Amino acid sequence: MALIRERRQLNLRLPLPEPSECRPRFALPLPPTAAATTALTNNSSSAAISAADLDTLQVLGHGNGGTVYKVRHKRTSTTYALKLVYGDSDPTVRRQIFREMEILRRTDSPYVVRCHAIFEKPSGDIGIVMEYMDSGTLETLLKAHGTFSEPKLAHVARQVLNGLNYLHTHKIIHRDIKPTNLLVNSNMEVKIADFGVSKIMCRTLDACNSYVGTCAYMSPERFDPDTYGGNYNGYASDIWSLGLTLMELYMGHFPFLPPGQRPDWATLMCAICFGEPPSLPDGVSEEFRSFMECCLQKESGKRWTAAQLLTHPFVCKDPSVSVS
Ligand code: ATP
Ligand code: MG
Repeated sequence: MALIRERRQLNLRLPLPEPSECRPRFALPLPPTAAATTALTNNSSSAAISAADLDTLQVLGHGNGGTVYKVRHKRTSTTYALKLVYGDSDPTVRRQIFREMEILRRTDSPYVVRCHAIFEKPSGDIGIVMEYMDSGTLETLLKAHGTFSEPKLAHVARQVLNGLNYLHTHKIIHRDIKPTNLLVNSNMEVKIADFGVSKIMCRTLDACNSYVGTCAYMSPERFDPDTYGGNYNGYASDIWSLGLTLMELYMGHFPFLPPGQRPDWATLMCAICFGEPPSLPDGVSEEFRSFMECCLQKESGKRWTAAQLLTHPFVCKDPSVSVS
């Protein structure tokens, strides 16, 4: 819990935009009335799971979007993670959970956390039943085991890039890639989670210019859209956030600031928008340095795409793990 509290102070959040002008092209997943607990399944589960089927084991995390619990299915004994948003939550939080539901119901990838069911209680509480990632987040691993070696980082990068490539191919921009939103299990599988501020692009050329997410990992063009003409390529912003995340795992601290320094908005603005991108220390491999430079270009048009980065020697050099 101390860990969670400390982390939350570092999360500098900016206000969410008004509901997107892009209306979902399908009915929202919740039934209109709920006389009893109602449950919906998605394509990956064979039977509906409702709140009454689950025993709560412990709290896994608190976030802006709600509380996440470790739960066990009473009949099957399967362990899941349950994200619960209370019925009386403010509209922004409810908007986030609807957005997350909409995306999780669309996605089906080994690199994106799976959603097994969505339910609404008569009280208005909304639950998302997800696969349980038993090693927590990349930040948990960093704090528990220290900084990541290059081969370990390449393994992480390959998986997150596969996830981003899947999302971007499906016109989904995550917009909040950071160590606490990348979940890990004991097989060292890494999956993208937390779609509370993500966006589904309605048309291929939609501009993506709203201020959402955690600003520490924001690309220069998202932090200061005016300077970059107001419109920017959200896919490239996800790549910047990934680069910063990987560098943090290598260096052990947020790369734009010295270890221990708390980020505030003004410091971040100066560092991200007016400073040079952070660089790796001496002694790293050429492949790693080059990979980072492909992610952390200040000019978004110069950043490689997820598909291009999957062909970079840094992530390709370990032949034992295939890139799918
Ligand atoms: P934040 O605002 O901090 O990003 P959030 O409200 O958006 O939080 P999530 O990021 O989805 O919520 O979850 C909060 C925390 O709960 C995660 O950082 C992680 O520690 C834990 N968690 C979420 N989903 C899972 C899961 N499927 N398996 C294990 N732990 C999880
Ligand atoms: Mg989160």
